[in-house]
Amino acid sequence: MASITLKNIVKKYDDGFPAVNDISIDIEDGEFVILVGPSGCGKSTLLRMIVGLEDITSGELLIGGERVNERAPRDRNLAMVFQNYALYPHLTVYENIAFPMRLAKGKFSDTEVDERVRNAAHMLELTDHLERKPANLSGGQRQRVAMGRAIVRHANAFLFDEPLSNLDAKLRGQMRAEISRLQRSLNTTSVYVTHDQTEAMTLGDRVAVLKKGELQQIASPRELYEQPANLFVAGFIGAPSMNFLPGTIEGSVLRSPVGDIELPEHTAAAGRDRDIVLAGIRPDFFEDAATLSEPQLSKGSTFAAELTHTEWLGNEQYVYVSYENDPRVAETMQTLAEEMDADELRTQLVVAVDATSRLRGGDSA
Ligand code: ATP
Repeated sequence: MASITLKNIVKKYDDGFPAVNDISIDIEDGEFVILVGPSGCGKSTLLRMIVGLEDITSGELLIGGERVNERAPRDRNLAMVFQNYALYPHLTVYENIAFPMRLAKGKFSDTEVDERVRNAAHMLELTDHLERKPANLSGGQRQRVAMGRAIVRHANAFLFDEPLSNLDAKLRGQMRAEISRLQRSLNTTSVYVTHDQTEAMTLGDRVAVLKKGELQQIASPRELYEQPANLFVAGFIGAPSMNFLPGTIEGSVLRSPVGDIELPEHTAAAGRDRDIVLAGIRPDFFEDAATLSEPQLSKGSTFAAELTHTEWLGNEQYVYVSYENDPRVAETMQTLAEEMDADELRTQLVVAVDATSRLRGGDSA
């Protein structure tokens, strides 16, 4: 196991444009760090530089405190888990898992190989499938074989490149839990690339958000959600996305196009000396006023909006509204805890908002 340190890492491909631009991150020994960002932001490039599949244009990469920029991938002792699993179809599960040890010719005795393969198989519940070929396994089982191969190497770190993106939603949930459990029990330093918010928010100790090759913020999932460093992170983290309302701050109140909205103390203080601000309010702070009680309503402000469309997800519903066709308030959203009956959908909706706390549930019930 080892720490991984990125110091001012830059990657320029042939066109000279920096795909990764001056990124510095300290990943502690045993830490699980997620790299997340929109397509093309440079997350795979960064991972490939760590593993050694891509040259570093400038900057320094340290593993366990040692500079490894010039070291070949096989000498970095990192285990990469790919999206397509990279399993050998003609080998059994047993031999696929044993493969990295067979590759290090003579380094491991047959007994040692057998012990490590069986331990990993046990950990991954693959013991009953050791004699099968990959073609006869489910997607989740293949994924676990790929994990097994990473485990037997006793690598310095695990590097994951969108390992779950080929799996269906249910399996993805199971594998996410599995990876999380394994990482915590093995306590191996891990770097995990994904564009999936749920994976980013649930797996990592810290999440690094990238945009156009630049690091926007690295923080715990909770800190990213509650204290985004900039508008990009605020809009990127959280689904559905945060609403941004323009306005001016007077005392503790945001004077916005949809009316006055009381702000939490720290937010009001942050914007006090600015003329015009963008207030970010999460969708779950907006509610359909018709479903709220008097005490709940009295806490917030209300405004009438036009319903543009809804999305029903089974346990919640996203409601998209616009306000007087004001483009500044386009696509303000809310999530509703209660299902709206399709027959009752109105084109006009009174929306209640409170930026200091959720209107429904908690202390307002
Ligand atoms: P995705 O989520 O779509 O996989 P990503 O965040 O992993 O995207 P990268 O694959 O790292 O992004 O690509 C970052 C940038 O570098 C992109 O603009 C991409 O077009 C460019 N790029 C990637 N590989 C090469 C290459 N071999 N040659 C030239 N440009 C490249």
